[in-house]
Amino acid sequence: MPVTRQLETDVVVVGSGPGGATVARRLAAAGRRVVVLEKGRDDQWLGSYVGALRYVDRGGLLFTEEGLNLVRAITTGGCTIIYCGTATEPPPWLKERYGIDLEGHVRETIDELHLEPLPDEVCGAPALRLLEAANELGYHWTKLRKFIDPAKCKLTCGGACMLGCRHGAKWTARDYLADAVRQGAELVTRADVRRVLHSDGVATGVSAATPDGMLEVHAGTVIVAAGGLGTPIILQRSGIDEAGVGMFVDPLVMVAGVGRERGTWYGPPMSVGTYEMIDEGVLLSNLIDPWAMHVIMTGLAAPRRLPQTLRFRHAFGIMVKIGDERRGVISVDGRISKPLSERDRSRLNRGVAVAEEILQRAGCDPRTLVVGPVRGAHPGGTARIGEVVDHDLQTRIRNLYVCDASAIPEALDLPVVLTVIALGKRLADHLLARGPRQRAAA
Ligand SMILES: Cc1cc2nc3c(=O)[nH]c(=O)nc-3n(C[C@H](O)[C@H](O)[C@H](O)COP(=O)(O)OP(=O)(O)OC[C@H]3O[C@@H](n4cnc5c(N)ncnc54)[C@H](O)[C@@H]3O)c2cc1C
Repeated sequence: MPVTRQLETDVVVVGSGPGGATVARRLAAAGRRVVVLEKGRDDQWLGSYVGALRYVDRGGLLFTEEGLNLVRAITTGGCTIIYCGTATEPPPWLKERYGIDLEGHVRETIDELHLEPLPDEVCGAPALRLLEAANELGYHWTKLRKFIDPAKCKLTCGGACMLGCRHGAKWTARDYLADAVRQGAELVTRADVRRVLHSDGVATGVSAATPDGMLEVHAGTVIVAAGGLGTPIILQRSGIDEAGVGMFVDPLVMVAGVGRERGTWYGPPMSVGTYEMIDEGVLLSNLIDPWAMHVIMTGLAAPRRLPQTLRFRHAFGIMVKIGDERRGVISVDGRISKPLSERDRSRLNRGVAVAEEILQRAGCDPRTLVVGPVRGAHPGGTARIGEVVDHDLQTRIRNLYVCDASAIPEALDLPVVLTVIALGKRLADHLLARGPRQRAAA
């Protein structure tokens, strides 16, 4: 396809999820000329199935070769449009094993965005019932820190947080992206970046397919932030063949049962839970799919239990998420393989046993307990620190950086966004300290 448009800038950022939006905002605020290229549209119809079908990749039907369902959003703001809004600090091993100290940037973000647990009346009685039941059994559940403004949150959304928040209660990377644009950054949507342009081992820009033809953006600094699945494909197309190997996805299952009281649909997801089993690689939290997804997932896991989905308003749910082994591979043509290991399965089983115990204590009928199919929502590790990028997130192509979950070197088994934001702020500070880069400075 011939090049129909060219742009010149200081920095080009690929992707507008939490990684891309954060770094773009900070660099634009410091006066750098920034262009952000985003593959998706700036979709506005949030919080509905019809809207989500447009921005959830393949309408939610993205599967690995082994049949594991992966969920990601292709839109401005990336996966934060559909995330649950739980904020968790990076694990200590990131500093201990890899020397990545994010403490200052994490603290800055917590203060800036007022990331706190929700008040009881916004968590909702069903979440508090699960917390109480878990603690009666001797576990240690607490309220979790959220990216949610309690003043705007409506409890009656029925889990639609994961279709996009229609009340503006949930912080998303679009908030940072809007700041970046206000500071002068140029946003180009529907720009599918194909490869990084480079010469003599130095990045000089990117080329992207757009509805109007090929766009080339020439820049002294290139930051690829297309997420755990998007980034490794761009890197491989650009000659970094070692990207895409060793992917984790933090596999998860939903465990649900029917009780007598109002169920988990009432109140935001993942507002309570426990990190006490993190050493075993297991995280538990309150969560139930929005109704239609709940029906589909119940049908896939236990078709005979489908009739009980009519009692959705009394259904309680717990998500079991685990830290998995890095066995996934994404190829340059987009094929994904992600086998689960014996250790992954035994971690899932361990979490499911605890979740079933808590659900029964909370009043669910044991005959209604259903364990949904295994899914993945946190792909990462596909451009790992120490292998594909260095300590400063730079690849072996100079002035080409990665800034998203693909740089995280091991499964977090934790919500990812606060870590990715902190990585973005750290990278921006590093680039600003290094001074301006002229285009194609070799
Ligand atoms: C249902 C769900 C619930 C979640 N809940 C939580 C939670 O509560 N807390 C938490 O911390 N995390 C949560 N996560 C995970 C979190 O949302 C992601 O880990 C995080 O958004 C990853 O950020 P990223 O910048 O790496 O990538 P993404 O958010 O995926 O952003 C990548 C961006 O790049 C764009 N892109 C891709 N390819 C290209 C290309 N070729 N050219 C141009 N642009 C491209 C995409 O459209 C996207 O906008 C959840 C995820 C899901 C799916």
